[in-house]
Amino acid sequence: MTKRFWELTGKNIDEADLSIMFLPVGSIERHGFHLPLGTDTLAPLFIAEKTAEKVGGLVLPPIWYGSCMAMRGHRGTFDISQEALSKYVGEILREAWRNGARLVVIVNGHGGNTPALHYTAREVSGNTGLAVIVVDWWRDVAVETRRSLFQKPGHAGEDETSAILAIAGHLVDIDTADRADVEYPPVRIYNRELEERIYSKALTGDARLASEEKGLEWLKAVIDELAEKVLEAARILGIK
Ligand SMILES: [Zn+2]
Repeated sequence: MTKRFWELTGKNIDEADLSIMFLPVGSIERHGFHLPLGTDTLAPLFIAEKTAEKVGGLVLPPIWYGSCMAMRGHRGTFDISQEALSKYVGEILREAWRNGARLVVIVNGHGGNTPALHYTAREVSGNTGLAVIVVDWWRDVAVETRRSLFQKPGHAGEDETSAILAIAGHLVDIDTADRADVEYPPVRIYNRELEERIYSKALTGDARLASEEKGLEWLKAVIDELAEKVLEAARILGIK
């Protein structure tokens, strides 16, 4: 049976195990010249589907729009406020709970969403019986694998480009892949001017070093580790 919630029939949903659901959240945002605008949603959707197959969960329809303040000056970026994102995700989580979910794993593909997602997870779990996990897939799991495979992490850089080559290579225009040597600050600095400077090319790192092979290896490690963590969480929660 399909793991995609939107493909289930009424009969399917009556028979399905609803306890674990995955919610991919991403963005519509410029990623250099060479990656698709939906990069940050395509990756978590792929990871959520593969992980759901391993742990026996269902995948909710992804949220394509995210909070993209740093890249809003670039054509192709839709910037949704933290408040709107939080409210929308919160209502989806409540509906998942009302439909029978016990644990929702939010697989986030975009850094600008992270504060809103954690805030919302805290808020909804405090007012329902739902358990929520928020995972920034590129930095919360398979950290060592990422470090060993890629020279530098980057927005639309070597690592992210490798992942999209592996997930949806037909959407990558590798001939336009570029590099941008930018220095990330040692701590998180909230400052619009600085963020706009860092992301002036909507790219950080060196996308020309990317390969499908590296992407496949990274994604496999991400999916394996995420599946392990979700199963462990389900055991702790007494779900499976
Ligand atoms: Zn991205």
